Amino acid sequence: IEKSEVDELTTYHALNEQEAIEIARGIEDFFPAGAHLACREIGDGNLNLVFHITDSASGKSLIMKQALPYAKVVGESWPLTLDRARIESEKLMLEGQLAPGLVPVVYKYDPVLSLTVMEDLSDHIIMRQGLINGTKYPLFADHISTFMANTLFYTSDLGMNQQDKKLRVKDFINPELCKITEDLIFDDPYTVSANNNIPPAIEDAAEALRNDSALHLEVAILRDKFLTNAQALLHGDLHTGSIFATPASTKVIDPEFAYFGPMGFDVGALFANLILNYAGQQFWMSDDEARKDFRGYLLESIEDIWTQFDRKFRALWNENGIDRLANSTPGYQDYYMQRLLQDSIGFAGCKIVRRIVGLAHVADIDKIPNDEIREQAQRAALAIGTELIRRNRSAQSIQELIDITETAL
Ligand code: ADP
Ligand code: MG
Ligand code: MG
Ligand code: MG
Repeated sequence: IEKSEVDELTTYHALNEQEAIEIARGIEDFFPAGAHLACREIGDGNLNLVFHITDSASGKSLIMKQALPYAKVVGESWPLTLDRARIESEKLMLEGQLAPGLVPVVYKYDPVLSLTVMEDLSDHIIMRQGLINGTKYPLFADHISTFMANTLFYTSDLGMNQQDKKLRVKDFINPELCKITEDLIFDDPYTVSANNNIPPAIEDAAEALRNDSALHLEVAILRDKFLTNAQALLHGDLHTGSIFATPASTKVIDPEFAYFGPMGFDVGALFANLILNYAGQQFWMSDDEARKDFRGYLLESIEDIWTQFDRKFRALWNENGIDRLANSTPGYQDYYMQRLLQDSIGFAGCKIVRRIVGLAHVADIDKIPNDEIREQAQRAALAIGTELIRRNRSAQSIQELIDITETAL
């Protein structure tokens, strides 16, 4: 499909469904001429519109995602740059090259409307919901470890020319979305902030978070890495709500938080969200045996993801590493992977904590209708998250994260 001009829509404004249909008609060689298109806005986020456009006669469909210039959650009072739509479309296209088949195909990006036209993945389900439903994804560890190894290695100083990398860093300067992370994940949960959303039943645990200065030191060190360590081009928001899945297929969406940061932030986001589901299963799986089995599956997935990621990343390094010193210095690869594991564990802890006491929670836990069980899951998640943060710099293996999780629930 070639880029096409849309004359009637030459200035930015939030589209309505009829305008989205007109734009879809203008995309060359997609819908048959004269097709009777239907459109529905299906976005569930706070920052963007997502239009689903279908032609029932031909069975063809596509998705259009448009960035809004403000965060919907607080009306128009929280402005947000539209440049993130450019970042998202560029990152999606790069991911499509580095990790083929693991992201939606981008058909077109319109910089005026901040609009990405992409492959419709409605035959997949958002993985967070799939896991809540108790679905297992046997190929997920393989797929997501490939996605992370390829996207992180080839955008790091190990896998790409270091001068070229510096020039790429500036294409992904994403200050406003980084600030959301810096505040909501690394700051608010540990202080009194209007941004927090603390379940009243666990106010005592939230207060303990605010008073734990040893914990604050670890969070400050992790935050510093997020602020300063341009290690690789991250997805930046790699939770299970950013993953479409079926038992046979995995597609990563929504990279609008992409920037050059510490690799462990992506890996840790994934671990955190699998652990949050582990905690939420306290309710979702009522049968003891089934719950034990599903939790075993989640922990095995975490172990598999790390083991396969570590193996694939080292293989890329050994075969395609471009840095003489990094390639030939004995002990450096082991040091690098150990530090990456430790970062992943620390960032996983931060991501868990913010989903319990911070602004945006997760359905795995918040949608539990039973107050007592929900509180149990929240307290267990906080216990796991804080222990991961405390232990991050001394962690030696992924087994420690698994032991910490199993001990809590
Ligand atoms: P946001 O940044 O606002 O969270 P997402 O990219 O996560 O936006 O998309 C929000 C929702 O829109 C998704 O949870 C999904 O339901 C739907 N969606 C997004 N992209 C696609 C796609 N390519 N195919 C089908 N549905 C999609
Ligand atoms: Mg969303
Ligand atoms: Mg999203
Ligand atoms: Mg998003």
